[in-house]
Amino acid sequence: MAYTGKKEASTPTAEEPRIGVFICHCGTNIAGSLDVPAVKEYAETIPHVVVAQNYAYMCSTPGQNMIKEAIEQYHLTGIVVAACTPRLHEQTFRTATANGGLNQFRFEMANIRDQGSWVHMHDWEGGTEKAKDAVRIAVAKATKLEDLYPMAVPVEHRALVVGAGIGGIQASMDLAAAGIETYLIEKEPTIGGRMSQLDKTFPTLDCSQCILSPKMAEAGRTPNIKLYTLAEVENVEGYIGNFDVTIRRHARGVLTPTEAAAKGIVGGGCTGCGDCATVCPVVKPNTWEFGMSPRKAIYIQHAQVVPLIYTIDFDACVKCGLCITACGTKKAIDLEMEDELFTIKVGTVIIATGYETFPIEQKREWGYKLYDNVITSLEFERLICASGPTIGHLVRPSDGETPMSVAFVLCAGSRDNTGIGKPYCSRFCCMYSLKHAHQVIEKIPGCKAYIFYMDIRSFGKAYEEFYYRIQHEGAKFIRGRVAMIQELPNKNLLVIAEDTLLGMPVEIEVDLVVLAAAIQPTAETEIVRRHFGVSCSIDKWLLEAHPKLNPCGTTTAGVYLAGVCQGPKDIPDTVAQAEGAASAASIPIHAGQVELEPYYAQCMQDICAGCGMCTNQCPYSALSMTIVDGRTVMEVTAAKCKGCGTCGGFCPGGAIKMQHFTSPQILAQIDAFFLGGEQ
Ligand SMILES: Cc1cc2nc3c(=O)[nH]c(=O)nc-3n(C[C@H](O)[C@H](O)[C@H](O)COP(=O)(O)OP(=O)(O)OC[C@H]3O[C@@H](n4cnc5c(N)ncnc54)[C@H](O)[C@@H]3O)c2cc1C
Ligand code: SF4
Ligand code: SF4
Repeated sequence: MAYTGKKEASTPTAEEPRIGVFICHCGTNIAGSLDVPAVKEYAETIPHVVVAQNYAYMCSTPGQNMIKEAIEQYHLTGIVVAACTPRLHEQTFRTATANGGLNQFRFEMANIRDQGSWVHMHDWEGGTEKAKDAVRIAVAKATKLEDLYPMAVPVEHRALVVGAGIGGIQASMDLAAAGIETYLIEKEPTIGGRMSQLDKTFPTLDCSQCILSPKMAEAGRTPNIKLYTLAEVENVEGYIGNFDVTIRRHARGVLTPTEAAAKGIVGGGCTGCGDCATVCPVVKPNTWEFGMSPRKAIYIQHAQVVPLIYTIDFDACVKCGLCITACGTKKAIDLEMEDELFTIKVGTVIIATGYETFPIEQKREWGYKLYDNVITSLEFERLICASGPTIGHLVRPSDGETPMSVAFVLCAGSRDNTGIGKPYCSRFCCMYSLKHAHQVIEKIPGCKAYIFYMDIRSFGKAYEEFYYRIQHEGAKFIRGRVAMIQELPNKNLLVIAEDTLLGMPVEIEVDLVVLAAAIQPTAETEIVRRHFGVSCSIDKWLLEAHPKLNPCGTTTAGVYLAGVCQGPKDIPDTVAQAEGAASAASIPIHAGQVELEPYYAQCMQDICAGCGMCTNQCPYSALSMTIVDGRTVMEVTAAKCKGCGTCGGFCPGGAIKMQHFTSPQILAQIDAFFLGGEQ
């Protein structure tokens, strides 16, 4: 580990701190709700402040130049900018501070906009007084700031992508094309994710698997992509540039040709011939087909899997050994195979763990799992797909008959504030339900399609035109959320709703109901997010670093997001975000090193009593005990420290210093608040 910024300015030692205060109007964002000139006048009276200025937009080039020029003119030792948030503009003003010749960490920000003018819009006096307090507190800290230098750490030339749906596949192909060795791990036996379960894709009606398979195949054969299926993240240690990720590879029970060769089995390994599955006596529902078709205990999920290697379901396998005999000289089957753990070192990580369907049976009024002929949209995709369980014939589960009327229930569990469903819009259900209506009208001449909707959200490119097309094809649109579905003795379904445009209740009898069920993050996503320290929003989708300006990054340096795990989105948006995430993840790798904030703990070893109690406090294992000059003391692995301050707050002897948030700095702020900065 090295320190960069050696040439960066170090602040000239001054006998007394000399602080400059710069107050931003932010147009009328701040100046419209509080008295900026009064705050400036007040700032001039604060001890150690040698200059105070105000300006319309401090973040603009002239605003930044004001800071630079004032540093030179007034020989400042610290800068306070009273403006928006450090999250938005800390870096801007740090750079301005450094351009003026001061160490960039001699800068402190007072938030008088988001926590000031915006929340006290109708309290001119109160907002002004609060801004004065905020400036005084920031000045108190600025008088005690010290020079700090970012820490440069090398970055491994490898990346990890977790989840191999279309998002993960696209991200890993981009990383690999950029010359970065990429690990792609997928918990299922095959890559492809949800897109490989779809029949057609809106609005172009391309065959989903046809446009996905070339990408799946390429991901499988790209030398720069190390693909591990049936694999999950077991443990993560480290930080950007140096993540040590332990992967659990679940026992597949079947060797690839490469694995067989490594075991000395010449010409061995699975060729995907399927002889094993033919002889296997155990029959189970194929969960990939939502249980609508059978599979054996040794199986592949569908015909286009990548990699084409059979998998043993060890929960179902009776170890009869028939498959071993059938496999013969290829000797691909190992019934005693066990899970394998291995650790990889990567510089950056992309999470692309996708989504699952909300358990829509919880909305009992629609009768899913109670009534045979109520199915979900994903089940519909499989039933209408030529490679699905019915070879593309849409049939009623109850009797195998072709339905002549189908109701599509939109917003099933989405936009639902009852506490049972999801409050958000799942975004792609309107569009795929239009697609489904088109498919039944096209495939089953005379079949009626009823779409029960609250709003039709056809927001994307060529989506509105697609909506017109489906209207034109004769789908019936009924504006109203379905109140209830009742099963009739002939297994038909009575869909009861209010048509809010006609202003009257409607009851329509149909042969089949398709619920456009809400989607939610997968249970595994929660585990992955905790491993990588990524936050989630209130509805559990993974949280981006900034909702507008950084939708691919997270607040954990080196960890990026792609696809639906970040929030519902269709395939084009997933691919676009995956490409963005791959680009972001490759920047530190190509730079070769990354600068870390110097906000890490420091042990003042001369006063450390060596009790070792702090080491258990650190959630990142950044602390250990060592011997210096015969004394046992604590030492910090600075690059592992996230600066949370737990240890600093814990150490009873005050031997741990949190850089940039030292006890004297914080006490000075508290004093400034309570005692007016006089002490
Ligand atoms: C019924 C239906 C129809 C649709 N039709 C269309 C359409 O026509 N057009 C369109 O644009 N969009 C459509 N969509 C949306 C489309 O499915 C998504 O946009 C797309 O699948 C998102 O891809 P993804 O890679 O983000 O997630 P997924 O496809 O969910 O892939 C995520 C992958 O991560 C894996 N994974 C999860 N957790 C882990 C873990 N812990 N470790 C390792 N691997 C993990 C999963 O097994 C999966 O393979 C439809 C969706 C539905 C439900
Ligand atoms: S395990 Fe053996 S029998 Fe089964 S598909 Fe692979 S090669 Fe064929
Ligand atoms: S501040 Fe202390 S507890 Fe927090 S990460 Fe750093 S060393 Fe660990």
